[in-house]
Formats: sequence, structure tokens, C-alpha cells
Amino acid sequence: MDHQAGLLRLGIFAAILAVMALWEAIAPYRPATAVRRPMRWLTNFGLLLLGAGLTRFTVGAAMIASAVLAQQQGWGLINLVGLSGWHGGFLGGLIAIVALDCAIYWQHRLTHIVPLFWRFHRVHHCDTEFDVSTAIRFHPFEILASALYKSFFVIALGADPWAVVIYESMLSGFALFNHGNVHLPGGFDRLLRRVIVTPDMHRVHHSILMNETNSNYGNILSVWDRLFVSYVDHTKTNDHDMQIGLEEFRDKRSQSLWGVLWLPFRQP
Ligand SMILES: [Zn+2]
Repeated sequence: MDHQAGLLRLGIFAAILAVMALWEAIAPYRPATAVRRPMRWLTNFGLLLLGAGLTRFTVGAAMIASAVLAQQQGWGLINLVGLSGWHGGFLGGLIAIVALDCAIYWQHRLTHIVPLFWRFHRVHHCDTEFDVSTAIRFHPFEILASALYKSFFVIALGADPWAVVIYESMLSGFALFNHGNVHLPGGFDRLLRRVIVTPDMHRVHHSILMNETNSNYGNILSVWDRLFVSYVDHTKTNDHDMQIGLEEFRDKRSQSLWGVLWLPFRQP
């Protein structure tokens, strides 16, 4: 199953990445101003490869293994309730996906609250532009910690292994979508963000203004930000000209691949 699941996830990831990159190329929302795109993309894709490499050789299989173990042992909330039949399986999968999305909302919020976690998460936020490559800009240690955090919830929920595969594909697919340098027509964006996180909603989270950085933590469903009172509708400045990134990390040293790998360990 691991091999099939890995191929499926890679295929979905590559397809959504290609669609978003094409969309950005044809109709970019914000102009590519001072973007040193080759350097940014080298940093962001470099992090993706390092993160993927590190997890592959460490905790890569942890989530699926946790799901299989929970299934065999009958552990977790969903297994305890004992949903049966195909509709029970479907409902169980849906519950797992929604609950994991809520867990990721809190993981994200905690990375902003706990100073040690923020040191690593600021690698994602110090990107001075906002496009599909921002979605993959995470310190490898944060990816590793996240895999362990999610594995805990997979066991606690008793999530089905295939629900985990679908959720993981959705997690990366939605991250690529909501970091896109694209814009949906106002009415459509409003309608969509009643349910899911849109690029216009998530861009606020990358604002240089700290009260806006500390908002809109959601990844798939927008309901968590409304429920836990962290929703900010739009930036104080304006979407086109808003400054992206962190005030204290705008120098060249904070933007190279080596620079971001070292970023958690240095003072601003
Ligand atoms: Zn964040």
C-alpha cells in the first residue's frame, strides 16, 4: 500500500503544482516586483527536497503505519464507535479528514504561539513574496515534527489508512492552492471561503503586520478560524501592495537555502 499511496500522493502533488504554476504564469495577481525568482525557487524547492528526503529516511511511513496499527488493534475514537459497512467507512473517513484538518489548524496556531516552534515556522513566513512555491517552504525539522504530531492524532482517531492518504493529498493540494499568486473574482471568493481557505484569505496570514500574521491559520476548511476567533477578512493595507514576510528577516542572508536552514538557530 505504501508504494501505491506514495505514487498517488506524488501524482496529485505534481498535477496541482503544475496547474497553479501555469495559472500564476498566465494571470498573476501581484506583479513579480523585486522577486529574485531563481533564488527564491532554489530555496523553496531545495527545502522541499531536503524535507522529503529527511522524512523518507526517518518518520516517512509513520502516519500510514499508525493508521494500520490502530486498525489492527481497534484503537481510536472511530474504531471504538464501530462504524460498519461502506457508508460507515465513508463517514469514518470523513470524520478523520475533518478532525485532522482541525488538528493541523491547532498545530499551525501553536507554531505561532510557542517561541521555539516559531523559530522554525518563521522559515515559512520570511518569504518576501507569496506564490505556489511558498507552500513548500518549511524547515525540514518542522516537517518532521508535524509528521509525528499527525501520527498521534491518526492513532487517537483510529483513522483508516486510505483516509490518511486522502487527507495528506488534500493537505498538500490545498496548501499549493491557497498560497497561489492568483485571485478569484470577489463574489466567487466570498462564496468559496465560507467553506474553504482561498488564496485571498491565506495571503492575509503572510502580511508583514504581526496581528495579520497571527490570523487565518486554516488550511482546508475556513470554519476553524471563525470558530476559534482568528479570522481576519482582509488586510489593513491592500491586497495588491501589501508587504509580505517578516520585518526582521528581509536581508539576503535570510533568503538563501543555507540561510533559511540556519534561521531557527539565530537571533534576528
Ligand atoms: Zn503561519
